[in-house]
Amino acid sequence: PPTIGVFALQGDVREHLRVLASLGVDTIAVRRPSELDACDGLVIPGGESTTMAKLARTFELFEPLRDRIKRGMPTFGTCAGMIMLADRIEGGTSDQETLGGLDITVRRNVFGRQVDSFEDDLTIDGIDGPVHAIFIRAPWVEQVGPGVEVLGRVEVPGAVGRIVAVRQGPLMATSFHPEVGGDSRFHQLFVDLVRSVTTTDPVTQK
Ligand code: GLN
Repeated sequence: PPTIGVFALQGDVREHLRVLASLGVDTIAVRRPSELDACDGLVIPGGESTTMAKLARTFELFEPLRDRIKRGMPTFGTCAGMIMLADRIEGGTSDQETLGGLDITVRRNVFGRQVDSFEDDLTIDGIDGPVHAIFIRAPWVEQVGPGVEVLGRVEVPGAVGRIVAVRQGPLMATSFHPEVGGDSRFHQLFVDLVRSVTTTDPVTQK
């Protein structure tokens, strides 16, 4: 089976490891470059994106991550992980660094601002039946580039819904937390993506 890592310097790492293990892949918590090397795919969990970026710098994972993502490693970011994968942050105060890779602009902390969480049932492209989504101080996607597929939106009365799930080639991201709540279908989509990439990659021949 493929090995799927979870970025483990910050965030809800254990929840992702548990769901991935239940789907029959090998898992590894990634805190150092040698652990990243062992991965066929990577999940970046929910947490706090500015802290994640800083810790990745401190532990010398930032450049190796950026490099693997650039070279096509399948990567799935949830919530803070979505922000880490975004090329642009809207209304960002500052100089917040992201790994990038996804041609999207995100706005941080827009869902669940008041009570720290918000839930909705979503229709997701590629998944049968509604997906119950949990948002915790979550971002939404303000703008997507031409190569980005929109997989799901939160409905807004009288307007086009807010984009909360996207895919661009080997990169996937959700504003919400599919690792919470016992529904493994989103992770299954990602595992299928990792398998399709690792079985056809002429370089690794896996
Ligand atoms: N608010 C966090 C951030 O901006 C994301 C929250 C989450 O991952 N649940 O990074």
